[in-house]
Amino acid sequence: MTDFHIGRLTVIGVGLIGGSLALALRDAGVVDDIVGAGRSIENLETALELEIVDRYCLDPVEAVQGADLVFLSTPVQTFGSLAGQLLPAMKPGSILTDGGSVKGDVIHQIEPLLPPGIAFVPGHPIAGTENSGATAAFSTLYRDKRCILTPTPITPAAALETVRRMWQVAGSEVVVMEVEKHDRILAAISHLPHMIAYTLVNAVGSYDRFEENILEYSAGGFRDFTRIASSDPTMWRDIALTNREALLEMMERYENFLAELKEDIRSGEGQKLYDFFLKSKLLRDAIL
Ligand code: NAP
Repeated sequence: MTDFHIGRLTVIGVGLIGGSLALALRDAGVVDDIVGAGRSIENLETALELEIVDRYCLDPVEAVQGADLVFLSTPVQTFGSLAGQLLPAMKPGSILTDGGSVKGDVIHQIEPLLPPGIAFVPGHPIAGTENSGATAAFSTLYRDKRCILTPTPITPAAALETVRRMWQVAGSEVVVMEVEKHDRILAAISHLPHMIAYTLVNAVGSYDRFEENILEYSAGGFRDFTRIASSDPTMWRDIALTNREALLEMMERYENFLAELKEDIRSGEGQKLYDFFLKSKLLRDAIL
């Protein structure tokens, strides 16, 4: 039993991230009423059929009326324009929070728009799959995962505590982190791997030395490595553009390591190659 309770939750963007949060809170029995908002009626109808939301509105302004907590879970470049519409319609004392994968840019988009009496708590669940939309949502997505909150000097302590409790109820361990640290760590462990997966599929998929589509020969290694290249292109365009500086720094670091590897292969440096692979294997084995 928990004493945590939300009267009305509004989820803007009822996809994998927003839909899974709604389902987790519903399963925990801590929310009275869940309203969905989004772009297409088809996805919102699906969310209703799957009992992710109790009702939906296409108009985000209507959707936030009377909400105690509003969760933004659309692609990050939509946040500024959506917040500009929503914030004036939110009730005094309510909380806006989000699940966007980038935090500095999101804070920059939203904080200047905050009216008095509305709190904004920036957040990012470190959980996901390559699937999108309401059909991809499931209630256990956040169980035993981390959720990073990146409060700023103007984030009210009580609102931070409410959002922390919400993620704990959803099953997550909450970590509070400084914004820039979040964006640099995520550039390294999430954003760079997605860029590499997209690049690898394009590089191999466009190889035309043979008449056949060589991707059809791909087995475990290629498929495991590139699973995340099935992720939503709009979401990843937005992440690449909003975490540009940290991502470019990591891409340069990666290019330097790749250049070293190429040089060792070209010059037949067997010992160096062995050491390179062994170092990587030991680092990878340690995180299993
Ligand atoms: P998703 O499954 O595609 O869901 C996003 C939802 O937002 C969709 O239902 C979409 O509606 C709606 N939407 C898109 N543009 C909109 C707009 N302009 N106005 C209103 N609604 C709009 O994506 P997701 O994976 O849940 O990601 C949502 C957010 O979570 C992103 O900010 C992402 O950075 C973050 N995130 C993702 C992951 C992950 O692994 N996927 C992990 C952590 C955080 P339609 O279906 O009608 O197009």
